[in-house]
Amino acid sequence: MSNNTHFDYIIIGNGLAGLQLALKMASNAFFDNKQIALIDSSKKNVNDKTWSFWETEPSQWNNISHKSWNKASVITSKKTIDLELKPYTYKSIRSIDFYKEAKNRLKQNPNIHFIIDSVKSVKEENDNVFITTKENTFTTSHAFDSRIPENFSEYSKQSISITQHFKGWVIKTKTDVFDDSKVIMMDYRLKDGNQTTFTYVLPFSKTEALVEFTYFTEQLVNDESYDEYIKNYIKEYLKIDSYIIIETETGQIPMTNFPFDKYNTKRITKIGTGGGWVKGSTGYSFKHTEKKVAKIIENIKVNKTPSNNLFKRKYKFYDKVFLKVLKDENHKGEWIFQQFYAKNSVETMFKFLDEESTFFEELKIMWSLSSWSFIKAFLKHFSKTSF
Ligand SMILES: Cc1cc2nc3c(=O)[nH]c(=O)nc-3n(C[C@H](O)[C@H](O)[C@H](O)COP(=O)(O)OP(=O)(O)OC[C@H]3O[C@@H](n4cnc5c(N)ncnc54)[C@H](O)[C@@H]3O)c2cc1C
Repeated sequence: MSNNTHFDYIIIGNGLAGLQLALKMASNAFFDNKQIALIDSSKKNVNDKTWSFWETEPSQWNNISHKSWNKASVITSKKTIDLELKPYTYKSIRSIDFYKEAKNRLKQNPNIHFIIDSVKSVKEENDNVFITTKENTFTTSHAFDSRIPENFSEYSKQSISITQHFKGWVIKTKTDVFDDSKVIMMDYRLKDGNQTTFTYVLPFSKTEALVEFTYFTEQLVNDESYDEYIKNYIKEYLKIDSYIIIETETGQIPMTNFPFDKYNTKRITKIGTGGGWVKGSTGYSFKHTEKKVAKIIENIKVNKTPSNNLFKRKYKFYDKVFLKVLKDENHKGEWIFQQFYAKNSVETMFKFLDEESTFFEELKIMWSLSSWSFIKAFLKHFSKTSF
């Protein structure tokens, strides 16, 4: 615990974005003489989520990867699509392993200070940012803030917004039942009515897997609904009768084109979910966080505003079109993902989702999804978007 109240940089939130940013700063000589504080109300000592993502080697996360896979499948009521992921690997990291590893590395740096406190307000005045917490007031030349903007729930109604919400059980069996060489990214055979809902299965071993029931919808559901679908899926599709639940995970991730970047200023940068770093069309953010953090460091080093050019406009547009279709015609989710995964190569899809695709690859993706719903949404938003 530090007695200082002024820091060169203050990072609010020791979650995925805050810790990735601090790690990147700590490993760059440019920040050697900078005092950096991380403020979080939580000690981050429980496993609150499992992060999964795809990547190619080399990777900075292999030492904390819980499990990785080279194969995946997407199952719809019409077909099973088997995907060979090479040169990509799909990986899972337990958040507790990430928090422990990040904190261990950061605590070796005398310029990094962890403060357990709850931030109440962040205000920019002249050349400083004043951060008022429950216990204190801190000042900094630049604040990185992972809190979701207060008016998000009110104003998100004016954006194209749905929620990715889910519950998962990590189950353990006595006998070998899982094929642990393959992830089930989406299984649409069990659905809640006509909505976009699917089951996601991460087999960590032959006897242990995370089975998650997920909705991409506007409305949330009660806890029992998820439980009912997970139970049914395990019995009817995995054909497992005997198991114990060793962990549960619940989550809500905004899928939205809400203009989070409008909250960035010269001295305050919103980061993580609060900064719009979760990809609107997928809910994935682990790898996007890595890239945003690298861009922020690059900007700081050349004396640009840290949030400068953090987003690529054309992908914001693609996400918007996709969200519009999914929101207005939620029953089409199964068809959309079937087309996407069946008609494109793994490399084209992952490059597109990683926002690294060429225009030719984007045309291929658009062609695979071509339908009146997409054409309508495309035309409607194309006229309103400036690239
Ligand atoms: C259950 C779950 C599973 C997910 N799985 C995946 C996945 O598999 N792959 C993927 O790419 N993405 C996934 N996501 C989406 C996204 O990657 C995560 O939500 C990610 O944690 C977002 O990072 P963040 O830093 O914005 O938020 P967080 O990791 O939630 O961190 C925010 C931090 O800010 C702190 N904080 C908030 N308010 C205050 C305050 N007022 N004062 C002090 N501290 C405060 C919190 O305590 C928290 O530690 C998942 C999300 C959830 C919820």
